[in-house]
Amino acid sequence: MTTTWLPASGPTPFALAVHGGAGARPEPVRDPELHHRTLREALTRGQQILARGGPASDAVCAAVTVLEDSPLFNAARGAALATDGVAELDAALMEGAGVCGGVIGSHHARNPILAARAVLAQTPHVLMVDPSVEVLAGWGVQTAPAEYFLTERRLREVEEARAAHLAPTGHGTVGAVARDLHGAVAAATSTGGVTNQLPGRVGDTPLIGAGTFADNETVAVSCTGTGEHFIRAVAAHDVHARMKYLDASLREAVEAVLDGIGAAGGEGGLIAVDRQGNALVSFNSNEMFCGYLDDGEPVTHV
Ligand code: ASP
Repeated sequence: MTTTWLPASGPTPFALAVHGGAGARPEPVRDPELHHRTLREALTRGQQILARGGPASDAVCAAVTVLEDSPLFNAARGAALATDGVAELDAALMEGAGVCGGVIGSHHARNPILAARAVLAQTPHVLMVDPSVEVLAGWGVQTAPAEYFLTERRLREVEEARAAHLAPTGHGTVGAVARDLHGAVAAATSTGGVTNQLPGRVGDTPLIGAGTFADNETVAVSCTGTGEHFIRAVAAHDVHARMKYLDASLREAVEAVLDGIGAAGGEGGLIAVDRQGNALVSFNSNEMFCGYLDDGEPVTHV
């Protein structure tokens, strides 16, 4: 399994990277220009916040919201569906100061990342299962009916997988990592999981330390790939731990983690931004939708 590195950028006063998931791409990609445009829009939304001195946390939520709203990616609208044809959404947000929030199996939040942020900001908790319409309304988080999340493509995919008795397949997920002008980092990740997963299955995305992690002393990380492998590797936290305790560089830390996941048969990738504002994208899958700011210029990869 070969690991792909996109040219790292930085260090810069503020930094931002986004991803639209590793693997499960239609080949050739339908409408690559629209993918580029949507990733660029996510970068631009985050960049506007960072450039005016806004917090990394706001920037990653703004970027992820753009990708959740797009039916192109596996999160919120257009999410992969479970065996029962229902979208069960997971999301998490972590700020480098050590606070975090996540939702699991969300059915009602139009933007699960905003529900995750509400868990962080408005509750004493870290993780909540499927906040109700009433709870979301109380937090001021917009809701959407079940049909909003469904797309014909995903319904077709799950029907085909079911008919062929395929194991849960494909992956996607969206995420963003940022460092702001004040030196704080944040990571946000949102997913529909994998097509044809059992209802109730939870991947790495909402689990702090597995798919999402941020620490102002080291790095912010957002992962995508075969979630079970990323959970077993406690992948995002392991990148942080290698930097913190082994004094590994960002690249060394990411390389060791993805090598370990690859050796165990896992596939996927991650985006990371360190405390100096270096951004990095790496994956061992065939491809990964992603983008980053290079000297303030959005660069996208489809
Ligand atoms: N990691 C996600 C999950 O396992 C899927 C993905 O990123 O492709 O739920």
